[in-house]
Amino acid sequence: MQAKRIRPRPDQLPRVIILATGGTIAGSAESATQAGYASGRVTVDAMIGAVPEMTEIARIRGEQVANVGSQDITFAIMIDLANRINTLLGADDVDGVVVTHGTDTMEETAHFLNLTVKSKKPVVMTGAMRASTAISADGPLNLYNAVAVAADPDAAGRGTLVVMNDRIHGAHSLTKTNTTSVETFISPINGLIGTVNYGKTEYFRRPFRKHTHKSQFSVEGVTSLPRVDIIYACADMPADLIDGSMERGARGIVIAGDGNGNMNAATIQRAARAAQKGIFIVRSSRVPTGKVGRNVEIDDDRMGFIASDELNPAKARILLMLALLKKRGLGEIQQLFYDY
Ligand code: GLU
Repeated sequence: MQAKRIRPRPDQLPRVIILATGGTIAGSAESATQAGYASGRVTVDAMIGAVPEMTEIARIRGEQVANVGSQDITFAIMIDLANRINTLLGADDVDGVVVTHGTDTMEETAHFLNLTVKSKKPVVMTGAMRASTAISADGPLNLYNAVAVAADPDAAGRGTLVVMNDRIHGAHSLTKTNTTSVETFISPINGLIGTVNYGKTEYFRRPFRKHTHKSQFSVEGVTSLPRVDIIYACADMPADLIDGSMERGARGIVIAGDGNGNMNAATIQRAARAAQKGIFIVRSSRVPTGKVGRNVEIDDDRMGFIASDELNPAKARILLMLALLKKRGLGEIQQLFYDY
Protein backbone atom coordinates (compact mmCIF):
# COMPACT_ATOMS: atom_id res chain seq x y z
CA MET A 1 0.00 0.00 0.00
CA GLN A 2 1.33 3.42 -0.94
CA ALA A 3 2.12 5.66 2.06
CA LYS A 4 -0.03 8.76 2.21
CA ARG A 5 1.99 11.96 1.87
CA ILE A 6 1.67 13.99 5.04
CA ARG A 7 1.30 17.64 4.21
CA PRO A 8 3.23 19.92 6.62
CA ARG A 9 1.23 22.44 8.63
CA PRO A 10 1.22 25.89 6.96
CA ASP A 11 3.36 27.33 9.76
CA GLN A 12 5.98 24.59 9.15
CA LEU A 13 6.40 25.21 5.43
CA PRO A 14 9.79 26.53 4.16
CA ARG A 15 9.99 30.31 3.84
CA VAL A 16 10.78 31.53 0.32
CA ILE A 17 11.23 35.15 -0.76
CA ILE A 18 10.46 36.04 -4.38
CA LEU A 19 12.58 38.92 -5.69
CA ALA A 20 11.10 40.27 -8.91
CA THR A 21 13.12 42.13 -11.53
CA GLY A 22 10.69 42.14 -14.51
CA GLY A 23 10.94 40.27 -17.82
CA THR A 24 8.33 38.49 -19.88
CA ILE A 25 7.03 36.63 -16.81
CA ALA A 26 5.83 40.08 -15.73
CA GLY A 27 4.95 41.11 -19.29
CA SER A 28 1.52 41.89 -20.63
CA ALA A 29 -0.07 42.37 -24.06
CA GLU A 30 -3.38 43.69 -25.35
CA SER A 31 -4.45 40.23 -26.53
CA ALA A 32 -3.69 36.58 -25.72
CA THR A 33 -2.32 35.82 -29.22
CA GLN A 34 -0.17 38.83 -29.87
CA ALA A 35 3.58 38.36 -30.31
CA GLY A 36 4.39 41.94 -29.31
CA TYR A 37 4.19 42.77 -25.58
CA ALA A 38 5.81 44.96 -22.94
CA SER A 39 8.16 43.36 -20.38
CA GLY A 40 8.04 44.29 -16.71
CA ARG A 41 4.42 45.40 -16.29
CA VAL A 42 3.06 42.98 -13.67
CA THR A 43 4.07 43.44 -10.02
CA VAL A 44 5.47 40.75 -7.76
CA ASP A 45 2.27 40.65 -5.67
CA ALA A 46 0.16 40.10 -8.80
CA MET A 47 2.49 37.28 -9.90
CA ILE A 48 2.22 35.60 -6.49
CA GLY A 49 -1.57 36.08 -6.52
CA ALA A 50 -1.77 34.34 -9.90
CA VAL A 51 -0.29 31.09 -8.52
CA PRO A 52 -2.12 30.45 -5.21
CA GLU A 53 -0.97 26.78 -5.30
CA MET A 54 2.47 28.00 -4.20
CA THR A 55 1.15 28.65 -0.70
CA GLU A 56 0.72 24.86 -0.29
CA ILE A 57 4.49 24.31 -0.68
CA ALA A 58 6.04 27.41 0.91
CA ARG A 59 5.40 30.50 2.96
CA ILE A 60 5.95 33.23 0.38
CA ARG A 61 6.76 36.91 0.51
CA GLY A 62 7.62 39.12 -2.47
CA GLU A 63 9.90 42.08 -3.02
CA GLN A 64 10.10 44.21 -6.16
CA VAL A 65 13.79 44.84 -6.92
CA ALA A 66 13.27 46.23 -10.44
CA ASN A 67 10.70 45.88 -13.21
CA VAL A 68 12.52 45.88 -16.53
CA GLY A 69 12.99 43.69 -19.58
CA SER A 70 16.26 41.89 -18.91
CA GLN A 71 17.93 43.65 -21.84
CA ASP A 72 17.86 46.64 -19.46
CA ILE A 73 19.32 44.86 -16.44
CA THR A 74 22.37 46.78 -15.18
CA PHE A 75 25.29 45.84 -12.97
CA ALA A 76 23.82 48.22 -10.38
CA ILE A 77 20.70 45.98 -10.28
CA MET A 78 22.84 42.81 -10.13
CA ILE A 79 24.92 44.22 -7.26
CA ASP A 80 21.75 45.25 -5.34
CA LEU A 81 20.28 41.82 -5.95
CA ALA A 82 23.38 39.94 -4.73
CA ASN A 83 23.64 42.09 -1.59
CA ARG A 84 19.90 41.77 -0.86
CA ILE A 85 20.04 37.98 -1.30
CA ASN A 86 23.04 37.77 1.05
CA THR A 87 21.13 39.73 3.69
CA LEU A 88 17.97 37.64 3.27
CA LEU A 89 19.73 34.27 3.28
CA GLY A 90 21.77 35.30 6.33
CA ALA A 91 18.52 35.40 8.32
CA ASP A 92 17.29 32.25 10.10
CA ASP A 93 13.73 32.82 8.93
CA VAL A 94 14.49 32.57 5.17
CA ASP A 95 15.06 29.16 3.58
CA GLY A 96 15.44 30.07 -0.07
CA VAL A 97 15.12 32.82 -2.67
CA VAL A 98 13.49 32.92 -6.11
CA VAL A 99 14.47 35.64 -8.56
CA THR A 100 12.10 36.33 -11.44
CA HIS A 101 13.94 37.76 -14.44
CA GLY A 102 13.73 38.16 -18.21
CA THR A 103 15.30 35.35 -20.15
CA ASP A 104 17.46 37.49 -22.48
CA THR A 105 20.20 38.09 -19.89
CA MET A 106 19.12 35.52 -17.29
CA GLU A 107 22.34 33.54 -17.78
CA GLU A 108 24.40 36.65 -16.98
CA THR A 109 22.61 37.48 -13.73
CA ALA A 110 22.61 33.77 -12.78
CA HIS A 111 26.38 33.59 -13.30
CA PHE A 112 26.87 36.87 -11.39
CA LEU A 113 24.85 35.58 -8.41
CA ASN A 114 26.64 32.23 -8.60
CA LEU A 115 29.89 34.12 -8.03
CA THR A 116 28.74 36.66 -5.41
CA VAL A 117 26.07 35.05 -3.20
CA LYS A 118 27.61 33.71 0.01
CA SER A 119 25.19 31.03 1.09
CA LYS A 120 24.41 27.36 0.58
CA LYS A 121 20.67 28.06 0.69
CA PRO A 122 18.91 27.74 -2.68
CA VAL A 123 18.85 30.70 -5.06
CA VAL A 124 16.60 29.89 -8.00
CA MET A 125 15.97 32.09 -11.01
CA THR A 126 12.98 31.73 -13.28
CA GLY A 127 11.16 33.58 -16.03
CA ALA A 128 8.89 33.01 -18.96
CA MET A 129 8.98 33.01 -22.73
CA ARG A 130 5.30 33.96 -23.03
CA ALA A 131 3.79 37.08 -21.47
CA SER A 132 1.42 36.63 -18.53
CA THR A 133 -1.54 37.47 -20.79
CA ALA A 134 -0.65 34.95 -23.56
CA ILE A 135 -2.37 31.63 -24.34
CA SER A 136 -0.45 28.87 -22.52
CA ALA A 137 1.65 31.38 -20.57
CA ASP A 138 4.58 29.43 -19.13
CA GLY A 139 5.32 31.83 -16.24
CA PRO A 140 2.91 30.44 -13.60
CA LEU A 141 4.20 26.84 -13.75
CA ASN A 142 7.81 28.04 -13.99
CA LEU A 143 7.24 30.13 -10.86
CA TYR A 144 5.56 27.24 -9.02
CA ASN A 145 8.46 24.93 -9.93
CA ALA A 146 11.06 27.53 -8.96
CA VAL A 147 9.45 27.95 -5.53
CA ALA A 148 9.39 24.16 -5.12
CA VAL A 149 13.14 24.00 -5.84
CA ALA A 150 13.90 26.98 -3.57
CA ALA A 151 11.92 25.26 -0.77
CA ASP A 152 13.74 21.96 -1.27
CA PRO A 153 16.67 21.31 1.14
CA ASP A 154 18.20 19.06 -1.57
CA ALA A 155 18.71 22.11 -3.80
CA ALA A 156 21.11 23.62 -1.24
CA GLY A 157 24.80 23.80 -2.09
CA ARG A 158 24.23 23.51 -5.86
CA GLY A 159 24.89 27.18 -6.62
CA THR A 160 22.48 29.52 -8.38
CA LEU A 161 19.94 27.47 -10.31
CA VAL A 162 17.65 28.38 -13.19
CA VAL A 163 14.29 26.63 -13.43
CA MET A 164 12.58 26.87 -16.82
CA ASN A 165 10.31 24.44 -18.64
CA ASP A 166 10.68 21.63 -16.06
CA ARG A 167 14.49 21.73 -16.21
CA ILE A 168 16.91 22.70 -13.42
CA HIS A 169 20.00 24.31 -14.93
CA GLY A 170 23.23 25.37 -13.23
CA ALA A 171 24.35 28.98 -13.67
CA HIS A 172 27.76 28.01 -15.07
CA SER A 173 26.40 25.97 -17.97
CA LEU A 174 23.06 27.29 -19.13
CA THR A 175 22.57 29.40 -22.19
CA LYS A 176 19.57 30.75 -24.12
CA THR A 177 19.31 29.17 -27.57
CA ASN A 178 15.92 30.06 -29.03
CA THR A 179 14.34 33.51 -29.41
CA THR A 180 10.73 32.41 -28.84
CA SER A 181 10.39 28.76 -27.81
CA VAL A 182 9.60 27.77 -24.21
CA GLU A 183 12.39 25.17 -24.54
CA THR A 184 15.05 27.85 -24.96
CA PHE A 185 17.68 27.05 -22.32
CA ILE A 186 20.21 24.26 -22.68
CA SER A 187 23.16 23.32 -20.49
CA PRO A 188 25.87 22.31 -22.94
CA ILE A 189 29.19 20.70 -21.89
CA ASN A 190 28.13 19.83 -18.33
CA GLY A 191 24.44 19.03 -18.61
CA LEU A 192 21.43 19.61 -16.41
CA ILE A 193 21.47 19.72 -12.60
CA GLY A 194 18.04 18.07 -12.52
CA THR A 195 14.38 18.24 -13.41
CA VAL A 196 11.23 19.46 -11.67
CA ASN A 197 7.79 18.28 -12.59
CA TYR A 198 4.82 20.03 -10.97
CA GLY A 199 7.04 20.67 -7.97
CA LYS A 200 8.58 17.19 -7.77
CA THR A 201 12.35 17.53 -7.94
CA GLU A 202 15.03 15.12 -9.12
CA TYR A 203 18.76 15.92 -9.13
CA PHE A 204 21.45 14.36 -11.33
CA ARG A 205 24.58 16.14 -10.18
CA ARG A 206 26.27 19.03 -8.37
CA PRO A 207 28.12 21.78 -10.26
CA PHE A 208 31.81 20.95 -10.77
CA ARG A 209 33.12 24.52 -10.52
CA LYS A 210 33.42 26.81 -7.48
CA HIS A 211 30.35 28.88 -6.65
CA THR A 212 28.44 30.81 -3.96
CA HIS A 213 29.75 29.79 -0.50
CA LYS A 214 33.10 28.71 -2.03
CA SER A 215 33.50 31.75 -4.28
CA GLN A 216 36.17 34.32 -3.48
CA PHE A 217 34.22 37.18 -5.09
CA SER A 218 32.15 39.69 -3.17
CA VAL A 219 30.25 42.84 -4.16
CA GLU A 220 29.68 44.07 -0.63
CA GLY A 221 30.36 47.81 -0.71
CA VAL A 222 30.98 47.71 -4.48
CA THR A 223 29.18 50.39 -6.50
CA SER A 224 30.57 49.83 -9.99
CA LEU A 225 32.64 47.32 -11.94
CA PRO A 226 35.58 47.85 -14.31
CA ARG A 227 34.65 48.12 -17.98
CA VAL A 228 35.09 44.97 -20.05
CA ASP A 229 33.89 44.90 -23.68
CA ILE A 230 32.93 42.01 -25.92
CA ILE A 231 34.08 42.03 -29.55
CA TYR A 232 32.36 39.61 -31.92
CA ALA A 233 34.74 37.92 -34.36
CA CYS A 234 33.71 37.35 -37.98
CA ALA A 235 35.28 36.94 -41.39
CA ASP A 236 37.45 39.92 -42.30
CA MET A 237 36.70 41.64 -38.97
CA PRO A 238 38.05 45.17 -38.50
CA ALA A 239 40.98 44.99 -36.07
CA ASP A 240 40.58 48.59 -34.89
CA LEU A 241 37.60 47.58 -32.70
CA ILE A 242 40.30 46.64 -30.17
CA ASP A 243 41.65 50.20 -30.22
CA GLY A 244 38.12 51.59 -29.90
CA SER A 245 37.55 49.63 -26.68
CA MET A 246 40.91 50.67 -25.24
CA GLU A 247 40.28 54.33 -26.02
CA ARG A 248 36.97 54.13 -24.15
CA GLY A 249 38.65 52.82 -21.02
CA ALA A 250 38.09 49.06 -21.20
CA ARG A 251 40.34 47.21 -18.74
CA GLY A 252 39.57 43.95 -20.47
CA ILE A 253 38.24 42.68 -23.79
CA VAL A 254 36.49 39.38 -24.39
CA ILE A 255 36.70 38.15 -27.96
CA ALA A 256 33.59 36.18 -28.99
CA GLY A 257 35.92 34.28 -31.28
CA ASP A 258 35.07 32.05 -34.20
CA GLY A 259 35.48 28.34 -33.52
CA ASN A 260 37.97 27.65 -30.74
CA GLY A 261 38.27 31.34 -29.80
CA ASN A 262 39.86 32.44 -33.07
CA MET A 263 40.17 35.88 -34.69
CA ASN A 264 41.94 37.05 -37.83
CA ALA A 265 45.67 37.78 -37.90
CA ALA A 266 45.24 41.56 -37.84
CA THR A 267 43.05 41.37 -34.72
CA ILE A 268 45.51 39.00 -33.02
CA GLN A 269 48.28 41.56 -33.56
CA ARG A 270 46.20 44.45 -32.17
CA ALA A 271 44.99 42.37 -29.24
CA ALA A 272 48.57 41.32 -28.41
CA ARG A 273 49.60 44.97 -28.43
CA ALA A 274 46.70 45.76 -26.08
CA ALA A 275 47.76 42.88 -23.79
CA GLN A 276 51.27 44.34 -23.63
CA LYS A 277 49.71 47.58 -22.40
CA GLY A 278 47.98 45.72 -19.56
CA ILE A 279 44.53 45.13 -21.11
CA PHE A 280 43.30 41.62 -20.30
CA ILE A 281 42.31 39.78 -23.49
CA VAL A 282 40.08 36.73 -23.00
CA ARG A 283 39.40 34.42 -25.92
CA SER A 284 35.90 32.96 -25.74
CA SER A 285 33.74 31.66 -28.60
CA ARG A 286 30.66 32.69 -30.55
CA VAL A 287 29.95 28.95 -30.95
CA PRO A 288 27.26 27.92 -28.42
CA THR A 289 28.99 24.83 -27.07
CA GLY A 290 32.53 23.51 -26.51
CA LYS A 291 35.58 24.67 -24.60
CA VAL A 292 38.12 27.27 -25.66
CA GLY A 293 41.56 25.82 -24.95
CA ARG A 294 44.89 27.55 -24.44
CA ASN A 295 47.52 27.55 -27.21
CA VAL A 296 45.42 25.66 -29.76
CA GLU A 297 45.63 27.74 -32.94
CA ILE A 298 46.76 30.89 -31.17
CA ASP A 299 49.92 31.04 -29.05
CA ASP A 300 48.35 32.47 -25.88
CA ASP A 301 51.63 32.23 -23.97
CA ARG A 302 53.39 34.46 -26.50
CA MET A 303 50.45 36.84 -27.09
CA GLY A 304 49.57 37.26 -23.41
CA PHE A 305 45.97 36.04 -23.85
CA ILE A 306 43.61 34.14 -21.54
CA ALA A 307 41.43 31.23 -22.70
CA SER A 308 37.84 31.30 -21.40
CA ASP A 309 37.67 27.49 -21.04
CA GLU A 310 33.91 26.79 -20.57
CA LEU A 311 32.50 30.31 -20.28
CA ASN A 312 30.66 31.94 -23.15
CA PRO A 313 31.52 35.58 -23.92
CA ALA A 314 28.82 37.17 -21.71
CA LYS A 315 29.77 35.03 -18.71
CA ALA A 316 33.52 35.39 -19.35
CA ARG A 317 32.99 39.17 -19.26
CA ILE A 318 31.34 38.96 -15.84
CA LEU A 319 34.09 36.78 -14.38
CA LEU A 320 36.74 39.16 -15.70
CA MET A 321 34.91 42.24 -14.34
CA LEU A 322 34.72 40.69 -10.88
CA ALA A 323 38.34 39.50 -11.10
CA LEU A 324 39.49 43.04 -11.95
CA LEU A 325 38.08 44.42 -8.69
CA LYS A 326 41.46 43.32 -7.32
CA LYS A 327 44.95 43.63 -8.80
CA ARG A 328 45.83 40.28 -10.37
CA GLY A 329 48.31 38.84 -12.82
CA LEU A 330 47.64 37.04 -16.10
CA GLY A 331 48.33 33.57 -14.70
CA GLU A 332 46.00 34.14 -11.75
CA ILE A 333 43.16 35.26 -14.02
CA GLN A 334 43.68 32.27 -16.31
CA GLN A 335 43.38 30.02 -13.26
CA LEU A 336 40.08 31.71 -12.32
CA PHE A 337 38.69 30.59 -15.68
CA TYR A 338 39.56 26.99 -14.78
CA ASP A 339 38.18 27.28 -11.23
CA TYR A 340 34.89 29.09 -11.90
N1 GLU B 1 13.32 40.83 -23.55
C1 GLU B 1 12.60 40.08 -22.60
C2 GLU B 1 13.41 39.93 -21.32
O1 GLU B 1 14.49 39.41 -21.31
C3 GLU B 1 12.19 38.85 -23.25
C4 GLU B 1 12.70 37.62 -22.74
C5 GLU B 1 11.89 36.99 -21.64
O2 GLU B 1 11.71 37.45 -20.53
O3 GLU B 1 11.50 35.91 -21.98
O4 GLU B 1 12.96 40.40 -20.30
